[in-house]
Amino acid sequence: MAWRVNPDFLREIKQYGDVNIEECFNCGNCTAICSLSNEDYPFPRRNLRYIQLGLQEKVLESLDPWLCYYCGQCTETCPRGAEPAEAMMTLRRWLIGQYDRSGHGAKLYTSTKATIFAILRYSLVPLLLLIIGHTLSSLGVRGFENLRFVTDKVDLNAFAPTLWVWAVVLIDFGILSFRLFSNIAHMFQLVMKPKENKIPLSIYIQELKTFLDYLLTQRRWRDCKEDNNSRWLKHLILISGYGLMLVLIVGLLWWFQTDNIYPIYHPQRWLGYYATIVLLYSSGEALIGRIKKKEELHKHSHHSDWLFPGFLFVGTLTGILVHIFRYTGLPWPTYILYVLHVMVMIAMLDTEVGIGKWTHIFYRPLAAYFQAVKLRAKEYQDTTAAAPAPASPN
Ligand code: SF4
Ligand code: SF4
Repeated sequence: MAWRVNPDFLREIKQYGDVNIEECFNCGNCTAICSLSNEDYPFPRRNLRYIQLGLQEKVLESLDPWLCYYCGQCTETCPRGAEPAEAMMTLRRWLIGQYDRSGHGAKLYTSTKATIFAILRYSLVPLLLLIIGHTLSSLGVRGFENLRFVTDKVDLNAFAPTLWVWAVVLIDFGILSFRLFSNIAHMFQLVMKPKENKIPLSIYIQELKTFLDYLLTQRRWRDCKEDNNSRWLKHLILISGYGLMLVLIVGLLWWFQTDNIYPIYHPQRWLGYYATIVLLYSSGEALIGRIKKKEELHKHSHHSDWLFPGFLFVGTLTGILVHIFRYTGLPWPTYILYVLHVMVMIAMLDTEVGIGKWTHIFYRPLAAYFQAVKLRAKEYQDTTAAAPAPASPN
């Protein structure tokens, strides 16, 4: 099969990150040192070579960038300063942009202006909805009369009725889920090429356990570099806190956002406290790491790298302040911080789910899944080809 060459490929990739790929002379040190690469997936060298040769389609169908967990060992040992670890991160950004057919994801990676504009646009939606709701209430429009500012005590449910907020969250969740799944479907088309590779459905079903395994245990973090247990554990805890907060907000908001003051042992409080502590610590640590630039992982910060931890940190902090003001009975600070909190969370979800760094949560276990399916399909084909032909009737 002939591969088309894109002579501008390297220039395009450079829009997505601070890479030095042209310096690579293909010695293979990086692949030899990488604890995650293997014969079938010799990254990062292979993809660097593809980029140098302008083989865009080869990179597009590659799983390699998702199998790298950015320990930085390859960069530390590269004799040419080609920054292979950051090259893999840059390729992940580029791939996220390519999987998203709308072009929105790519724009957010290549333009800070577009990113700022998107954040403003998304964050203003909940504010506008609240202003419209309260205006209709002041005009006495039926159905909106319960919406009001209670100022002698905190009444969040009158300021922003929980069921209405929940409805908005569910609608947004539906839209974002559609975006995520259509991008995943595009990734599947590019990587697995179902029209060319006829892989039995049973193999896809059998290997679903690999996807769940990598999603729930995050164990590939542990396999990346020898001393990586703490990084794996931190990531696992982050996922547990993030997943729990997602369940509390998307599935249980009617129970989680309440004006009731519960005792400390009530699950509404300690589940919320667990998720809050985890999110604040994890996002704070990631931001400090990027400011200090000590670890290889944090030395190069593309503007998109600040968004997810930044949103998480500000969103969690405003959530904590809402909680404090609510418990101390301060209505106005509670309402103002609540609006800010919702604005930040909506902006985070709309700029991250399916098109931002958040998407690593899904694409990485999916890559492990597709890798396992390909391997199983190859074994299946080898077994079928080796099976003796049926005996002739004569
Ligand atoms: S990135 Fe560096 S270590 Fe890897 S093949 Fe190129 S020159 Fe060698
Ligand atoms: S950053 Fe680590 S996991 Fe990624 S290619 Fe380099 S050595 Fe391998």
